[in-house]
Amino acid sequence: MLLEVRDLRVEFRTREGVAHAVNGVTYQVDAGETLAVLGESGSGKSVTAQAVMGILDMPPGRITGGEILFRGQDLLKLKEDERRRIRGAEMAMIFQDALSALNPVLTVGDQLAEMFVVHRGTSRKDARARAVELMDRVRIPAAAQRVRDYPHQFSGGMRQRIMIAMALALEPALVIADEPTTALDVTVQAQVMDLLAELRREYRMGLVLITHDLGVVADVADRIAVMYAGRIVESAPVHDLYKAPAHPYTRGLLDSIPRLDLKGRELYAIKGLPPSLTRIPPGCAFHPRCPMARDVCRTDPPPLYEVDQRRGSACHFWRECLDG
Ligand code: SF4
Ligand code: MG
Repeated sequence: MLLEVRDLRVEFRTREGVAHAVNGVTYQVDAGETLAVLGESGSGKSVTAQAVMGILDMPPGRITGGEILFRGQDLLKLKEDERRRIRGAEMAMIFQDALSALNPVLTVGDQLAEMFVVHRGTSRKDARARAVELMDRVRIPAAAQRVRDYPHQFSGGMRQRIMIAMALALEPALVIADEPTTALDVTVQAQVMDLLAELRREYRMGLVLITHDLGVVADVADRIAVMYAGRIVESAPVHDLYKAPAHPYTRGLLDSIPRLDLKGRELYAIKGLPPSLTRIPPGCAFHPRCPMARDVCRTDPPPLYEVDQRRGSACHFWRECLDG
């Protein structure tokens, strides 16, 4: 297994008290596989990813439990220099906002070339040639000229391609993409997502795709982990989950996106808001918003029940939910 996150817990100190951002998250990603981590903002999906990358703001963020195994090795037990080496060469992250992730005072060619110089000891001249190749690979027109441009001279979509190129430069085994297309227009979103999916196949890397948009994951993900209030509430192969969700929250998310196969159906909105992470409701954290909630839901936190070998649901009544 490429990446295994086991019972990860992360807390933040805030003025309102301790925020329980990640409350026992477990997931796996294999080589060549795409896992979509889906959730509203504040569900803990980005914080989990930052913990995996080792870029959590510490303090105020603190990992209070769990393991992050990369090829069987617990990253949380490594020294910072070893961690940094893995982060540079074996795992990479793509952020939502390329403009703040890229260095504004360096040309994109210099930034790409730097990766090869620093991590591979490539000569400047060869590194420049590699930079052009990479820009070409992510389909930036006139790459040979545009390597001399600065990040702000590119459109949002092109900048996102450059960030993908940066992430893939050293052919990492694992890429984490945090809302990689959220800031883009819908048509550009689709192009960038297609490119990412294509490169993932070509490089056979494991991809963790973090998104709040269930609409973008159907075509690219193998499996989905749905997060709510710092927990995974459902985890399943993407097609199983689309066909029949085993958690009322997933059902609500599915019912709130327009689907071509269900034309004419009324769109639904999950009532209420996600809880504050300093005051997560007792029992099932989703109970104040759940149309299926019963007394037991207000007191007993549901474990992640095994629905079948490849599926889990943190709902006491997952069977009813599956049956629709
Ligand atoms: Fe709803 Fe209860 Fe299931 Fe939570 S455990 S999702 S409140 S039915
Ligand atoms: Mg986020």
